[in-house]
Amino acid sequence: MDVIDELRTYREKDIPYSRVLSSMCTIPHPVAVEAHRMFIETNLGDPGIFRGTVELEAKLMKLIGEILHCKTPAGYICSGGTEANIQGIRAARNVQRKDNPNIVIPKTAHFSFEKIGDILRVEIRRAGVDEEYKVDVGQVEDLMDENTVAIVGIAGTTELGQIDPIVELSKLAEERQVELHVDAAFGGLVIPFMDDPYPFDFQNKGVSSVTIDPHKMGMATIPAGGIIFKDESYLRALEVETPYLTSKTQCTLTGTRPGTGVASAYAVLKSLGFDGMREVVKTCLKNTRILVEEMRALGFEPVIEPVMNVVSFRTDEAERFKEELYRMNWVISTIREPKAIRFVVMPHVTEEVIKNFISDLRRVLRR
Ligand SMILES: *Cc1c(COP(=O)(O)O)cnc(C)c1O
Repeated sequence: MDVIDELRTYREKDIPYSRVLSSMCTIPHPVAVEAHRMFIETNLGDPGIFRGTVELEAKLMKLIGEILHCKTPAGYICSGGTEANIQGIRAARNVQRKDNPNIVIPKTAHFSFEKIGDILRVEIRRAGVDEEYKVDVGQVEDLMDENTVAIVGIAGTTELGQIDPIVELSKLAEERQVELHVDAAFGGLVIPFMDDPYPFDFQNKGVSSVTIDPHKMGMATIPAGGIIFKDESYLRALEVETPYLTSKTQCTLTGTRPGTGVASAYAVLKSLGFDGMREVVKTCLKNTRILVEEMRALGFEPVIEPVMNVVSFRTDEAERFKEELYRMNWVISTIREPKAIRFVVMPHVTEEVIKNFISDLRRVLRR
């Protein structure tokens, strides 16, 4: 058997996105695939060689800076939200220089912060949330002390798609002179394209860094995460010397780094434009409403009225539903607090996909 045939047999075992209602990733946009192919051998870890790709990344940073209301964006395209969060907190720790550093994060934060505590030796303090699952700013304040280097807000929580009160967190960060890292891995390319968007970004003076992932709603090819700082000084705080490369220093976490994410993210944003992105977001939000209506008709209630295209429905039987649906080749996910089944209505989750899913869910409910 030809090796490509062999690869195909494995690839065919993967579940197609048309059956996946749980992922924050999606089928890359066709223009992203073309861009990816063009940049397949590029390595941004050696910038003196890939001069054009470096220039393109700088252009993409400007574009993302525009989306995030930042005139002096400094950052790069990394492997994903996890790396972006690590680098955001690492920069905060290095800039603030405190002996026993701690950060205060919402209880609803992504699990990447577990890794951050371990890798960076930063104590992680978790603040509770209010009845809408937004972080309680009073609790954040109570958990801060003289060793706090950063507080974290989430713009689009992984489980519910909720947005923390970034405006209030920003005021608190300014008052106490700590960094504010906003994890907008998912929401960063949703909120700016909604009607009347919540100001989650650098419009707030206290925001120091933002995680924003093109490989989620940006429809770029994997890997493409993004970390953006409010200015260059934060990148300087991440630098190490690179003796044998074409650059003198490096501020990224990984060494060898693909240019494919840069090219594919740029291609999507440039070819769709902000208007095209608005259309994509509008469709996802419309389909989210359709899903909610269908689920309500079956007796399910969303945990919160959806803010974006992430929605979870309360049920004590979450695990059973997930397993039975998986046997029917549907992938949904569950959350633990409160017990619920979770959906992410990505561009591949079309109205037709939702209708098919609901008809299979009906069969599960009849059992
Ligand atoms: C997806 C996500 C992450 C992690 O991103 P990866 O690309 O999986 O590393 C971090 N934070 C939030 C809020 C996310 O939704």
